[in-house]
Amino acid sequence: MTKLVLFMLLVCAAGLPLAAQSLVRLVTHPELPHPASIAVLVAAMLLGELLPIHISRPGRTGEVTVSSTFALALAVCAPLGIAVLAQGLPLVVDDLRRGKDPLRPLFNIAQYSLTFAASRTVVLLVAGDLPASPVDFAQRHLVAIFLAGAVFFLVNHGVVGTAIALATRQLVRRHLVEDIQFQLLTSGLLLCLAPLALVGVAFSPVLIVVLLLPIAAVRRSAATAVARERDALHDSLTGLGNRALLQTRLAQALREVDEGSAAGTVLIMLDLDHFKEINDTLGHPVGDQLLLDVARRMQESVRQDAFVARLGGDEFAIVASVAHDQPDARLVGLRLAERLSQVLSEPTTLAGVRVDVRASIGIALSPDHGTDVDELLARADVALYAAKEDRGTWSFYDPARDCHTPERLALLAELRDGLDRDELVLHYQPKCRARTGSVIGMEALVRWQHPVRGLLMPDEFIPIAEQSGLIAPLTMAVLTGATAQARRWMDAGHPINVAVNLSVRHLTDLSLPAQVEQVLRAYQVPAELLTLEVTESTIMNDPTRAVTVLAMLRSLGVRIAVDDYGTGYSSLAYLKRLAIDELKIDKNFVMAMLTDEDTAVIVRSTIELGHNLGLEVVAEGVEDTATWQALLPLGCDIMQGFLISRPMPAEQTLPWLRSWQPPSPVLAPDNDPDANTNADTARIPRSEPC
Ligand code: C2E
Ligand code: CA
Ligand code: CA
Repeated sequence: MTKLVLFMLLVCAAGLPLAAQSLVRLVTHPELPHPASIAVLVAAMLLGELLPIHISRPGRTGEVTVSSTFALALAVCAPLGIAVLAQGLPLVVDDLRRGKDPLRPLFNIAQYSLTFAASRTVVLLVAGDLPASPVDFAQRHLVAIFLAGAVFFLVNHGVVGTAIALATRQLVRRHLVEDIQFQLLTSGLLLCLAPLALVGVAFSPVLIVVLLLPIAAVRRSAATAVARERDALHDSLTGLGNRALLQTRLAQALREVDEGSAAGTVLIMLDLDHFKEINDTLGHPVGDQLLLDVARRMQESVRQDAFVARLGGDEFAIVASVAHDQPDARLVGLRLAERLSQVLSEPTTLAGVRVDVRASIGIALSPDHGTDVDELLARADVALYAAKEDRGTWSFYDPARDCHTPERLALLAELRDGLDRDELVLHYQPKCRARTGSVIGMEALVRWQHPVRGLLMPDEFIPIAEQSGLIAPLTMAVLTGATAQARRWMDAGHPINVAVNLSVRHLTDLSLPAQVEQVLRAYQVPAELLTLEVTESTIMNDPTRAVTVLAMLRSLGVRIAVDDYGTGYSSLAYLKRLAIDELKIDKNFVMAMLTDEDTAVIVRSTIELGHNLGLEVVAEGVEDTATWQALLPLGCDIMQGFLISRPMPAEQTLPWLRSWQPPSPVLAPDNDPDANTNADTARIPRSEPC
């Protein structure tokens, strides 16, 4: 039996005999003094019960009923049975109608009986008697009724507050203390009007109506305040809570963990994967429809006590408390993420178009990942970023991916210095024409020659550069270094292409084309000797802007390659709109194509798709001759991978270019007349914009 049920049973045991006794007395002594004035009070009480005043409180709304004013008046001036009946009957009917647990109406009757009986006892003790009827309320009862109001308040607040605290798994004492100020200033003050109600009803029922008028005015202004507060804390489109409310709810949940009433908190951040594309293609009203649909699905897939918020755009969040009897927080988070991605991935039809929604989900747990609101929000954000980067569906917070940890912040500061001290070095990995093996270009891959930690690979510092904004100067350094290297190759008689990788931010930067043009001009390198590699997700981050920037770059004559193709979700329709030249099939597909039939099918259809769009197709991650041989009949244009060469330092590139022999027996001897000549690069066909 839970503590709540035990407490309710105890209250019932104390209060129900009182209720029963008062009702029996009502039946045995049915004659009422001044029934009209009692009826007016009962009517006013019922009206108050029907029209509660909604009051906004930090992070939640509260309800105050003016019925307690008239309930106290009835409790001291009418037979106890009348007060119990008038207050209890509507509650019982309402609880039964809503199908509540039968213990609840019994508890309500019991707690009111106790409250009324306690109030009557105070009046009896202080004034020496109870008014025989409402019209017999006299001067000597005045002090007594105020004291009775205080007892009414304490018993009612104590009993109901304890039950609420037990039901919501809060500490009883803390809940009572925290709630008392609110209750005192609302219900407590309303109880002070009870003597006025009695004087009024004795004089004329009209005065009761007059008494209700200011209460009605308060009710109205309270409703406006609640609506205003609701607007301030809720998203106008979906009606979900907003960021401010999320912070309040998260703080509440974290306090529960702190006090031991909950075992943990799960915070989920969720972001739709290609919402901008849908919004731009199908229009904003359809985008709004999708957001509404997502909000509904999310709310349906979480427990009732979990809190769902929309943080803006296509970003949502969920706070869920983990109870002591639930499995550990990690499992709760994982199940929630699984359920969300499953529910969201069910296709929906918008404006007659079938839309597949995918979401990235970041999960942070308390106490494991943080114990304060800002910390946990930041960590869920880091997890969301990691989920997006991995192109997976969800990701737990991992300190190794967090550039805000002290170690990462230190590394970021070192990287800033490293950039100034020219510690970044470029390695180059060749790309060869598939048919002949002739080298057509090299991809610049950045490394950091760290003074203490040695040579660091890009995955150790590119993510923190991307998160911090340092990626812009880093890319400019790479672009400059790679263009200078292309010049050196040209000067040595190898006018080959150089490829530079771009990050998310660059494609939203309208000044990038001018910067690229300036670097090319500075080294006198023709634009067609530069390829810029962008990933699908980079484009999808802001497709509208990406289309513009890509078109500007391409009009310079620079080649554009879509990198890691196959790992994102870009649609054929989108690729068609982009000004691109090259499609690089992600190495994971290429490396698995010989062992996995499904992957082989993907590689084959990607090559076909690329050719249909007029693009050249590059296979990256070619590690053995068998893969090269398998790719040749599929028509793949360009090869890149460890088979040809691992990325090498700049100074090794020229000797390598001179000694390079395509692997036999894959190829005929390198008899391509264009090999390593300007003509080869110039011959690369350019796809026309579709
Ligand atoms: P990426 O652009 O897909 O680069 C290819 C990566 O695959 C390189 O790793 C390369 O060493 C590796 N690779 C090439 N051939 C093979 C192969 O046959 N087998 C295997 N297993 N791996 C192969 P690296 O140099 O560690 O670069 C990793 C990623 O870092 C790059 O992936 C790119 O996304 C990023 N990156 C590198 N340099 C830069 C840069 O200058 N700027 C930006 N924004 N990102 C860069
Ligand atoms: Ca690349
Ligand atoms: Ca790649």
